[in-house]
Amino acid sequence: MSFTNFKIERDSDGILTVVWDVPGRTMNVLTNSAIGELAQIAQTAATDAQVTGIIITSGKRNGFCAGAALDEMQDNAAAGAATSSDADAAKRRFDGVMVFHKALRQLETCGKPVLAAINGLALGGGLEVALACHYRFVADDPRIALGLPEAKVGLLPGGGGTQRVPRLIGAMQALPMLLQGSSIDPQKALAMKLVHKVVPAAQLLAEAKAFLRTKPEAVQPWDKKDFKVPGGGPYSPGGGQAFTMGSSMLRKESYGNYPAQRYILSCVYEGLIVPIDAGLRIEARYFTKLLMQPESRNMIRSLFLSMQELGKGARRPQGEPKSEVKTVGVIGAGVMGFGIAYVSALAGIEVILIDSTQERADTGKENCARILDKAISRGKSTPEKKAEVLGRIQATADYTGLAHADLVIEAVFEDRAVKAEVTKKAEAVLPASAIYGTNTSTLPITGLAEASQRPQSVIGIHFFSPVDRMGLVEIILGKKTSSRALAVAIDYVQKIKKTPIVVNDSRGFYTSRCFGTYTREGLAMVAEGIHPAMVENVGRMAGMPMGTLEVLDSVGLDTPLKVVRQTRKDLGTNTPDAMEEFLADMVETKHRLGRKNAKGFYDYSDDGKRLRIWPDMIASRAWKTDADVEEMKQRFLTIQALEAARCFEEKVITDPRDADVGAILGWGFAPFTGGPISYIDTLGTKAFVERCRNFEKKFGERFKPCALLLEMAQTNQSFYTRFAPQKQAA
Ligand code: NAD
Repeated sequence: MSFTNFKIERDSDGILTVVWDVPGRTMNVLTNSAIGELAQIAQTAATDAQVTGIIITSGKRNGFCAGAALDEMQDNAAAGAATSSDADAAKRRFDGVMVFHKALRQLETCGKPVLAAINGLALGGGLEVALACHYRFVADDPRIALGLPEAKVGLLPGGGGTQRVPRLIGAMQALPMLLQGSSIDPQKALAMKLVHKVVPAAQLLAEAKAFLRTKPEAVQPWDKKDFKVPGGGPYSPGGGQAFTMGSSMLRKESYGNYPAQRYILSCVYEGLIVPIDAGLRIEARYFTKLLMQPESRNMIRSLFLSMQELGKGARRPQGEPKSEVKTVGVIGAGVMGFGIAYVSALAGIEVILIDSTQERADTGKENCARILDKAISRGKSTPEKKAEVLGRIQATADYTGLAHADLVIEAVFEDRAVKAEVTKKAEAVLPASAIYGTNTSTLPITGLAEASQRPQSVIGIHFFSPVDRMGLVEIILGKKTSSRALAVAIDYVQKIKKTPIVVNDSRGFYTSRCFGTYTREGLAMVAEGIHPAMVENVGRMAGMPMGTLEVLDSVGLDTPLKVVRQTRKDLGTNTPDAMEEFLADMVETKHRLGRKNAKGFYDYSDDGKRLRIWPDMIASRAWKTDADVEEMKQRFLTIQALEAARCFEEKVITDPRDADVGAILGWGFAPFTGGPISYIDTLGTKAFVERCRNFEKKFGERFKPCALLLEMAQTNQSFYTRFAPQKQAA
């Protein structure tokens, strides 16, 4: 037997060891050709009397299988681009999924015991192959992730995951795993009975073979006559409870915005009532239907394909040699600085962490230690790892260490003069080849570069808080920033395992600028007299992670007041509008500044817990509670998407992938939409412009569609066509 994706060894006692080793890839992925070969292997096992058992393991050092192949996922997305009335496309997709189901059914009914020896991460389709084996042994390594992450990118586990997982561990345990797409480590999987044994890595194959020699039974639990779903099926008291809780929790968390989660729930519910083969057909139908939904298409594109492309350096300038940042200088050891120092040291980079005094620099390093302590307490790190990471961070008030730095990231106060002074001090020591990054969140890079002797080396490297948890870095090009500076910044962001987007200089850049429109819209609604609780809830119903008043409280209400006043002055308007008056009253008359003085739109407990919307504000007037919820949701998303479109017009942003991925990772823009640009494209530029015009009439000039949108609306041109990423991917 000779295959492309698998290498087969046959023992003298008839055990086939099937080593999954896709050629030309560092990690195994599940392709159509691998599925076909698995079916052939199952066929051989069934018909060859000499075969006594099968072990499936991986030949890759770093994993068993990471899931479906990226290029074939692209095909899926393209197939889904057909309209749901396109019955042929649906049939093709359904038949394709059924081929996979058939192969896995062949494997689990081949009559010989099949064991998955999982020696690295097994995700998505990779885990689904393992679930179709009669036994699963896993190497004892807490870094091994087992999971079905499909729901996170708008998909459902379409290789039998929604049928086999609940049949193995019951709906109560299966539903959170399937709906959240979270991964578990081998010990947790053992405790959940998802795997049979956790074995020291070096003995995995030997133990697997020894076990198969005992001639264990070769029947899946669900193929036995007396099979019962653990915890009971949907009509039993236990099973019924799982579904009642599951659907209400899902509704609470996602407001029905995510078809993938809804369909997963239906697959499990409907699938558990029928035998496995009918359950798999049900799953295949929902999977096909899901691929036809814009939500799933957009989420796959943004959260899977575009994120991977950006992560792999799609926006890196061509021709620049690969760089390696070995030493980074972080200036300013505050909230952002210590986070940047931590993620850099974690990635193996030497860090010189500088603040104005030794004490402040030390505090920054202590905060890094705190993150590591937390990780240790959760079993995610070890004291040795902590010592190793902290050993790479040198906390100091002395700039001389920067003489060896390849890159500097400045994170001092948001003040031009302070930043200029720090730039000069650093450049006095830095080697000529070093790149100078600034973490400013608002100050244009071109202006900051004026303080530099080498403005071509100055670049914005904008992190999000908390740095250790936020996956995005917004890279900002000043007028004079060189392509080498961009290449080094992207190489560095890749090294610390975050996703870079690239934008051009402007006040607020891309992310802060668009996000600001969301909070302003919420304030405008409150100023119009819509009940604050309704404004908060509808913000979340629209898909945003936090209500606008909650966000404003954490920023501090004095900041938006300053912005609103400055904008009015810049526009030459003398009379404050209702929003400014409302904010001024909160800040200057009522002294409610937000979280910082424990009084804002919300009340807070002494230990900073958010308690309730301020009762006096609620009592201060008769609030409207009959506002149109659908229209409010549209206002929230439209105002942000319109700002993103303006950023295209002004060339602040040039690639739709940056716009969509940046919005979801940076400020949590409703992920089910695929991002603000996918949101516009899905609606169509024509319909989007009409909506903007309608809102402009009702709510004011801020909804006026920009010239670019008007032009695109004439032919209903989409952003992903006009600014097609492949044309400009560097
Ligand atoms: P912070 O006040 O927590 O920290 C600033 C640090 O800089 C302090 O430790 C201070 O002692 C130090 N510092 C001030 N002057 C210095 C000097 N001359 N030399 C050396 N150190 C000096 O502020 P932060 O929230 O960490 O913000 C830092 C930068 O990051 C700002 O530009 C801010 O706009 C930007 N930023 C902040 C956030 C956020 O959420 N906090 C997010 C993105 C970007």
